[in-house]
Formats: sequence, C-alpha cells, structure tokens
Amino acid sequence: MVGATLACGLACGLAEEARQLKIAVIDAFEPKLEWDKGSYDMRVSAITRASQNLFKKVGAWDKIVEQRLSPYTDMFVWDAGSPAGSGELHFDSADMGETDLGHIIENRVIVKALHQRIQEIPQISLHCPARLASIAFKDEEVVLQLEDQTQLSANLVVGADGSRSWIRQQADIAVKGWDFDQAALVTTVKTEKYHQDTAWQRFLATGPLAFLPLTEGYSSIVWSTSPDEAKRLTQISEADFAVELEQAFESKLGKIESVAGRAVFPLRLFETMHYVKPRLALVGDAAHTIHPLAGQGVNLGLGDVASLITVVVDALHDKKDIGELKVLRRYERWRRAENRSMLVAMDGLKRLFGSELSVVKNLRDFGLNLTNKLTPVKNLIMQQAMGINTDSNYK
Ligand SMILES: Cc1cc2nc3c(=O)[nH]c(=O)nc-3n(C[C@H](O)[C@H](O)[C@H](O)COP(=O)(O)OP(=O)(O)OC[C@H]3O[C@@H](n4cnc5c(N)ncnc54)[C@H](O)[C@@H]3O)c2cc1C
Repeated sequence: MVGATLACGLACGLAEEARQLKIAVIDAFEPKLEWDKGSYDMRVSAITRASQNLFKKVGAWDKIVEQRLSPYTDMFVWDAGSPAGSGELHFDSADMGETDLGHIIENRVIVKALHQRIQEIPQISLHCPARLASIAFKDEEVVLQLEDQTQLSANLVVGADGSRSWIRQQADIAVKGWDFDQAALVTTVKTEKYHQDTAWQRFLATGPLAFLPLTEGYSSIVWSTSPDEAKRLTQISEADFAVELEQAFESKLGKIESVAGRAVFPLRLFETMHYVKPRLALVGDAAHTIHPLAGQGVNLGLGDVASLITVVVDALHDKKDIGELKVLRRYERWRRAENRSMLVAMDGLKRLFGSELSVVKNLRDFGLNLTNKLTPVKNLIMQQAMGINTDSNYK
C-alpha cells in the first residue's frame, strides 16, 4: 500500500519536476485482483482524511470508491474495567462539522486500486512477482539485481517492503523496539444489530477489541490479546468463538450471527535507528510499526509518502541529487518526530488500559469521562487521529 502510493505520487505528475523520474516498483508477491464479491478481506484499514486526500491526489481514491468502502461517522471507546456508564468516550463527526471520521477499507481494495493506477502510468515499470537477489550501494548510484537476472540502477532506492524489510537488513539498519507479547486476531462477523456506522473499541485488560463497520451490516474484528489466547480463539468452534466474542463485546451489537475465517498476526512496536542512508529511504512498516489499536499504521506510512514526495520534488527543483544524504535527512527529521509521538502515545495507551492497578483504573475512568465532556479537547484528539492537523500533507 505504501510503496505503490509513493510510486504513483511521484510519477503521476503532481509536480512538474517529478515527471522526468523513471520509477521501478518491485514486489515479491502478486496482488490478488479478483475475489468473490460476497466475501470481505480479513485485513482492513481505518483510513484517515489525510490518507484519503493523498489517495485522491495520486488518482487512486475513485478506484477505491468504485469498489467498496465504509465511512464511519462515530467512534465509541469504553473501558471494560469501569462501572457501566463511566470510562466512555464518544466521538461524533457532526461535532466537528465533518461528514465522517474516516473510512474502513479492505486492504485488497486499496492494493487493487493502486495496482490499476500503476498500470496507467507509463513512467512506472512494474516487476511483480520479482525478488531482489542483490543490492549494491555505490557513490553515484545503487545497483539492483533481480533473481530473474534483470539489472536496474537508481539514484534512490526506497524500502517499502514491510516490517521484515529485506532492504533494511541489507543496508544494515538496526531497529529498536519490543514485542508487545500480544497478537491480533482478525475476522469478519455479521451482528444482529446494525453497527450504526460506528467504530467500536472496548479496552479489556488483555488488550483492545475493535468492531469496525463494513457494508451490509458486517463488521471487521481486530481482537488484541496474548498470543496463547489468540491461538486458542482460532482453535475453538465458530459457535463457541461467536459466544466469547459477544461476551467480550458486552453484546453491544446483539448476537454474532456469522463468523468468517480467523487469522492471527503477531504485534510488535519498533522504529528503525535511521530512516535514511546515502541513496536509501525507508517508508511505512519497513521504518516503523505500531499497535493497531488506533488504526494508524498505514496512515503513518502514507504520511511518510507525502513527506518524501515533497523532499524529492524540492530537491529536483533545486537541481540536487535525490539520493544525497543531506537531502534525505530532511525526510528523516520530518517523519521521525511525527511517527515517534504516535508510537509513544500508542504504547502509553496500551499500557494504561492494560493496568489492573486500581489507582490507574480510577485515573483512566476520570480521564475518559472528563475528555468526553470537553468538546474542544475531543475535537483536537480527532483532528490528530484524522491526520488533519499534521504537517505531512502535500504542500
Ligand atoms: C491486525 C492489524 C490491523 C491493522 N489495522 C490498521 C488500520 O486500521 N489502519 C492503519 O492505518 N493500519 C493498520 N494496521 C497496520 C497496517 O496494516 C500496516 O501499517 C501496513 O500494512 C503497512 O503497509 P506497508 O505497505 O508499509 O507494508 P506491507 O503492507 O507489509 O507491504 C509490504 C510489501 O512489500 C512486499 N515485499 C515484502 N518483502 C519483499 C521482498 N523481499 N522483495 C520484494 N517485495 C517484498 C510485499 O509483497 C508487500 O507488497 C493494522 C495492522 C494489523 C496487524
């Protein structure tokens, strides 16, 4: 999602200076472009306004809309450890004069839209499925050899190859972070009651449980818990799982009427020691991964994209070498500050809600209730979550 957006953004003529660029996109895996329309992708993303605007600018948004997406107008967060009616937080898009707070979009829909967009842009050559056999960083260029013997050279290589980034390892860039000792179980369910176009999140001591609204009254589930518990939840019968899920969610949407397949993803938090090296920049999960509890991972990656495009275009405008470390450092400074504040906030939230200490529980009840009553504070939080008061949007 992140690398393809960058390629489209750089190539599709957003800035005159970038039209001279030739871009190669190398992906090891062919995206799935056809599927049964009655099914939902288990992987979805809550896409913020800032990311929506970026997709619009790169020409992918209309292609997403043509497929399927679900706007959500409200967000309801509550704490399992609080007495009923307290420890709640409700965000309503109407309070902010917005039509929605964002969109829940299946990852395969985003990938397909970007793939279609790439096919339309002659400056982009797509190598897929293709794997890199070697990469050599030289003073004036980077030389890449694909496993099929194709050789490419570039002024700049961008590693957008996810949290296990091969490019990052080849460039010997270390990461710092830690395992959460949590895993996320994902599935799609149909609930008895309509989800009210609301993103629901209940904080349990074991981790957050989210119900994200899809079309036709379906919801996408992200249930973060211990790896053992996640494994157990995939092994019990569908009927038993439905009962446990309903209980964990306090039956907010009535009975769970159907459950699609279940899958588990390990959760990690890390940030790379460096986002850049001479002739290399890392973007998206290759540079940082965070807990999915606030649905910000890919949105941060798309923030990287917007910033890197600006940095590259400015360098081209000033007739500078786009792979020069001095040029790329501007991108690193810009994004590190913004990403780190989100990483720290998400880690703090996860710890805050994971605590069983009564003093912490009382404090978080008080904080949630107070925040819920303070509309200006809530609006500020939402603006941050929607990415509309950050400085990474396109100039
Ligand atoms: C359960 C869960 C829920 C989430 N929910 C949200 C959410 O609601 N909102 C949100 O913003 N984020 C969410 N995230 C985070 C989000 O999914 C990631 O941040 C996002 O997928 C990162 O995108 P990316 O393009 O950087 O990396 P990836 O999606 O990992 O893509 C990496 C790409 O690199 C390719 N690749 C990998 N290795 C190689 C190689 N050696 N050679 C060539 N190509 C290679 C892959 O094929 C792939 O195309 C969630 C994460 C999880 C686990």
